[in-house]
Amino acid sequence: MSHDRVLHLSPDSHMTVLGCASNSASGPTTSFVVYANEKGLLIDTGVDPIGRLTYNREDVAQVSSVIVTHSHSDHCAGFANFVFTRQLLAKNCDGIPPLQVYANRQTLNALDSQLKTQYPNREFDVIENEVIAGEAMRTPEGFTLVFLDSAHEVPAVSARITHDLHDWTIGIQSDSAPSNRFLKFFEGATVLVAEVHSLETDSGRLRRVHERGHSGLADAARLVEMVQPEVAIPFHLPSEFFSSAAAAATVAAALGEAGRRGLQCLPTIGQCTD
Ligand SMILES: [Zn+2]
Ligand SMILES: [Zn+2]
Repeated sequence: MSHDRVLHLSPDSHMTVLGCASNSASGPTTSFVVYANEKGLLIDTGVDPIGRLTYNREDVAQVSSVIVTHSHSDHCAGFANFVFTRQLLAKNCDGIPPLQVYANRQTLNALDSQLKTQYPNREFDVIENEVIAGEAMRTPEGFTLVFLDSAHEVPAVSARITHDLHDWTIGIQSDSAPSNRFLKFFEGATVLVAEVHSLETDSGRLRRVHERGHSGLADAARLVEMVQPEVAIPFHLPSEFFSSAAAAATVAAALGEAGRRGLQCLPTIGQCTD
């Protein structure tokens, strides 16, 4: 297969899962892109956003906004490389708009220091947008973003994404312990991206997953059951998902019909096919 499967949201919009593994040894890590009317919004960069966008034949230069949920490396290690390469590519076209970055204050500081450490003498056209939980923000491309604070090891935000010209709502849960606040926040979402950090069923061990600021398959299944999205995309998947067909089948069974549609959109790299 030459590229991964795209989720068609409407005739002029689509979403691509660039990465959904919890660590790079299993596959590309958390990153998604949504294009509406050919303008792209990146959600987490993962480790290699340019490589993943290029592999999927997505237009890097048309991505002018990026949400970064939090500062962990599996979600944003590729940020500086993305900014640098995007600017390099822009020299070949007639200029591109500045890159709008949406994140909480702690994450913005981490991204700024990543950029300054790697490229101390360069100027980049990056605009920081500090997100405040509950306040809607509008990107120049017509996306509206609303954020919710997550319960994680570092300050993190979940996001709800809509667009002026489209009817869909995309809910993105960041790494987070489960919370009833997600039920209200994601109400009406047509696409729900839910964390599946662990396939743990033992309640004691699942509690330890929660204590580390993550959700497991049972939590994702409950969230999907309550929100009832059309498509449920699991992310942060553990290594066994990619190496064991039985584990992948367990995830599919837990997430129902919405999950079946979501699983069809996951990257195929490294995935067990037997
Ligand atoms: Zn994290
Ligand atoms: Zn993570």
